Amino acid sequence: MTAPRRGRGRPTVFEPPTQAAYLDAVRHGMRLGDAAAHVGISRVVPTRYARTDREFAAALEEARAVGAKVRRESVPHGEYRYNVLKCRCLDCTRAATTGRAARRADAAPAPTADKSPAEETAGDVHPIRLDRAEVGKSSTSFLLARAS
Ligand SMILES: [Zn+2]
Repeated sequence: MTAPRRGRGRPTVFEPPTQAAYLDAVRHGMRLGDAAAHVGISRVVPTRYARTDREFAAALEEARAVGAKVRRESVPHGEYRYNVLKCRCLDCTRAATTGRAARRADAAPAPTADKSPAEETAGDVHPIRLDRAEVGKSSTSFLLARAS
């Protein structure tokens, strides 16, 4: 265990407790930017720090690997997992097919029975209401078609 170096030339404060909290957040599946925000630092800090601290770099690498796995396994099977995590199991494939069909039908939201929190933050395609904005109709269909 090497103690973190605190040179005068390093203006950035990234103390061991913050490092630990950051690594923990990453390990729990947070994206790097979110993890940085979570512990109150700029997202460039850990990246910069990892360049000069091999031990931290290794820990970050390990945390990212664990985090990626956690993200995959905590995301329920469904359309998001099919699209983003490229899961091709029966559940995901069916959900993706159903989702696309539903959107093609009338741009209505897919059945919400198995809607998960992950889907809400997934940056999924949100059907755009066309009640008033008739103008957007053609371009929206175009975008949805491309997204499928
Ligand atoms: Zn799946």
